[in-house]
Amino acid sequence: MRLRGCHPDPFHTVASPVAHTLAGFWTFLLLTARSKLLLIAACVRYLPQLILLVLLANLPDIDFLFGLGDRANWDAFHHGFTHSFVAAFVVAFAVTCVWRMAGSFWRSFSLCFLAYCSHLLIDFFTGTKLGWNSTGSGIPLLWPLAKEFGSPLILVVGVKHKDFPALFSLANLQSSLYELLVFGVFTAALLVAWLRHQKSRGVSHQPQTPARAVYNSNSMQSNERIP
Ligand SMILES: [Zn+2]
Repeated sequence: MRLRGCHPDPFHTVASPVAHTLAGFWTFLLLTARSKLLLIAACVRYLPQLILLVLLANLPDIDFLFGLGDRANWDAFHHGFTHSFVAAFVVAFAVTCVWRMAGSFWRSFSLCFLAYCSHLLIDFFTGTKLGWNSTGSGIPLLWPLAKEFGSPLILVVGVKHKDFPALFSLANLQSSLYELLVFGVFTAALLVAWLRHQKSRGVSHQPQTPARAVYNSNSMQSNERIP
């Protein structure tokens, strides 16, 4: 595991939970794409799956907690082995052994793996400045190999977390709003695609008549399982 003490920039900039949470929601849309439920109904019906996918999309940053034993240096072990494909595989496999959230083992595993890897992808493109400048701190994607990978093209400006003033700074507010905007646009585009897919499967998203409300309610209470 790599300590950050000798690094020229001892504190990583990291994408905030805003980006990772929205990416977790994207995998939920994938999970429910074949469902015949309306979006809100799908979120309610599959709330445990939604929560799990969002948690998995944020899980790699649990390595912040590993630094608490190292003179409370949150960044001591950040961007360590939890930011690797090995960790993604192990976590997805373990979670799927406990709970097959999407019916079949491999579909459940794939969704968990994707949710986890969404975090790695976002971190790969995160740095201190937008543009082609290689300002990312890199992540050990192929751990246990020590080599770190980062994109020369930076698409996400990470938040700073050196101390509380930095954490609650105006720059971090701007970074979070930027993430909300960019990832929000992607989410809206995916929602449109999701709704179109539902429509092509004959699911109506028109305002509900009392009769349709009863139908949808019954359908939620039925044995619908994610195909
Ligand atoms: Zn991370």
